[in-house]
Amino acid sequence: MTDSNSCITINGLNKIYKNGRHALKDVNLVIPSGMFGLLGPNGAGKSTFMRILVALMEPTSGQINAYGYDLLKQRKEVRGILGYLPQDFRFFAKYKTYEYLEYAASLSGMNNFRKRKSAVDSMLEEVGLFEVRDRYANRLSGGMKRRLGIAQALIHNPKVIIVDEPTTGLDPEERIRFRNLLSKVRGNDVTVIFSTHIVGDISSTCNNMALLNQGVVSFKGSPEGMLKLAEGKVWKAVVNDKQLREISNKYPVTSTIPFKKEWEVQIVADEVKGFDVESIQPNLEHAYVYFMEKELDLWTND
Ligand code: ADP
Repeated sequence: MTDSNSCITINGLNKIYKNGRHALKDVNLVIPSGMFGLLGPNGAGKSTFMRILVALMEPTSGQINAYGYDLLKQRKEVRGILGYLPQDFRFFAKYKTYEYLEYAASLSGMNNFRKRKSAVDSMLEEVGLFEVRDRYANRLSGGMKRRLGIAQALIHNPKVIIVDEPTTGLDPEERIRFRNLLSKVRGNDVTVIFSTHIVGDISSTCNNMALLNQGVVSFKGSPEGMLKLAEGKVWKAVVNDKQLREISNKYPVTSTIPFKKEWEVQIVADEVKGFDVESIQPNLEHAYVYFMEKELDLWTND
């Protein structure tokens, strides 16, 4: 795909660490503008992928083109169009919230004092931190710190915003707030790429996504597309204690709820044999389990 909508194209990306760990295996992706979610469990290779994308780490092989720049050859230019919020974002304790943002703004080359002040003020408003601008950054709550993180990534109006596991450790309310903030910043032609191991982060905000498992992309497309592929693969059954043990040993069970004196279970599988099951509509959590299991199957059959 080479249409103007493809902002980032990744071809044949591999990363093998010095210890031999093959963290990314022939990743091919086209990332259009809008919200793009990279979903995968811990150890899937998400941070490796993000660090390569922001030119902090070199891949072992592969090509990345971002808005017409070759990422491996034009690292400086690519950094200029990128905003990055790493997973372990930290501040210097001595900075107040607005001072930190001013510092980030001047680092990105905003030298005019008045312009910088106005950019900082409007960014503080946008991320909902204006009221606490005089508070020391390390005194902010977890969610506020994360919002300050996104503010520093956005201050120079980047075309691509890369956010590694932004909602980890946030309470549900802050998580929703953060997700909404991310989806608000996607303007014309802006790409927001974020990684997560939380399925719920993907469903409400992303128009495109990829599923990464053990360094392999096992699905790419829209969340709706992933749901569609899981149709006819999710089942419901009512089982007794003995059957519950049997069915759990044989199939991935995604929920177990007490039902009268038995259990109502949900199972994700191509087919279920030996139990009386009824097909149900998948949700994204089911689809995630379906693809994860599929990938592991391929893996163990290698
Ligand atoms: P995720 O962000 O999805 O949790 P990572 O990209 O951090 O995954 O890690 C992918 C794999 O690469 C894991 O098996 C991890 O142990 C390994 N890994 C990550 N960083 C290094 C490194 N610097 N050296 C060797 N192996 C690494």
